[in-house]
Amino acid sequence: MIEFLNFIPLNLKAMETSTKSLISIEKSKTSKIDKVDFDNLAFGSVFTDHMLVCDYKNGAWENPKIVPYGPITLDPSAKIFHYGQSIFEGMKAYKDIEEAIWLFRPLDNHKRLNISAKRMAIPEIPENYFMEGLSALITLDEKWIPKKAGSSLYIRPFIFASGQGFHASPANEYKFMICLAPSGSYFSGKVKVLIEETYSRSANGGVGYAKAGGNYAGQFYPTQLAIEKGYNQVIWTDDNTHEYIEEAGAMNIFIRINDTLITGPTSDRILDGITRKSIIEIAKDENIKVEVRKITVTEVVEAAKNGSLKEMFGAGTAAVISPISTFGHKGTDYDLPELQESYATRLKNRITDIQYNRAEDKFGWRYKL
Ligand SMILES: *Cc1c(COP(=O)(O)O)cnc(C)c1O
Repeated sequence: MIEFLNFIPLNLKAMETSTKSLISIEKSKTSKIDKVDFDNLAFGSVFTDHMLVCDYKNGAWENPKIVPYGPITLDPSAKIFHYGQSIFEGMKAYKDIEEAIWLFRPLDNHKRLNISAKRMAIPEIPENYFMEGLSALITLDEKWIPKKAGSSLYIRPFIFASGQGFHASPANEYKFMICLAPSGSYFSGKVKVLIEETYSRSANGGVGYAKAGGNYAGQFYPTQLAIEKGYNQVIWTDDNTHEYIEEAGAMNIFIRINDTLITGPTSDRILDGITRKSIIEIAKDENIKVEVRKITVTEVVEAAKNGSLKEMFGAGTAAVISPISTFGHKGTDYDLPELQESYATRLKNRITDIQYNRAEDKFGWRYKL
């Protein structure tokens, strides 16, 4: 009976219920903020005073609660541990010089969280729970948003199966949580990548388009092997032929050949990144020629050999744009040129100027809290 109940909410559209005044807040008695060195923040390793917790029980999401940040208790049979029903999002809050707080395309993160939820048989979270939860939590911990240039408050919304039992079926209980981590600018240095020819991140019909925790677990081992060979990161290729370039680690990838910027089309295997789609629009607005099409390893190797390969970079919320300096393929390393005026820098400046409210936002992406 309990297992049967699991399936009822999955088919229901997320219910629109008002969370106004339904979010309860239990404030922490003390703040850890004075212990934090805001000038030397690593990425995602210090957490704010509060977190949001919202339980799914008996076929419905209960009222979200904001509570002091801290450990949670789970039954050892919780399905997250055994069957990996777990999804997440990654976003940021920015403070401008007037100390106004901004998010970047947050409704797109909500939509994508529910796309991931559906694929992993996790109940969808209503938009107002997500948006009002975010808003209440960030407002409460507002002092934690770093003001230093390039710094931001990294936001991690996630949902996992907290329901019990070894039966291999979707759980009947879940937790939706949001945690916040003030973070410095994510500078990875020059990234040396290896084009992967053995392992795959995703496959047709699989879960590559979902932001599912297990996708990351599956990437760790091939990435470790690449690191042992002297690379920092793996370039994922299609699982079938390893001939099409798909993603750079956990980022979308852009390749510039001559003056054309190329990125693969999203699919079952390629995650629909918000940074990726924003960069496509900004590049078009900059009159940069953009092609969204499949791109082969052969084409990139040829371009590297004949000098038409100008840039390769990863794109994602954490690092925004991460330029690649070298790629390895079949035992040969190919260096990319050092450019005075790269698309990477130009596009990163445009997108971060919008995010930090330093420039006009003609696209309507900024969201004031
Ligand atoms: C999160 C993620 C991205 C980047 O998405 P953004 O919305 O730009 O942060 C790209 N690829 C993978 C596999 C990801 O998990």
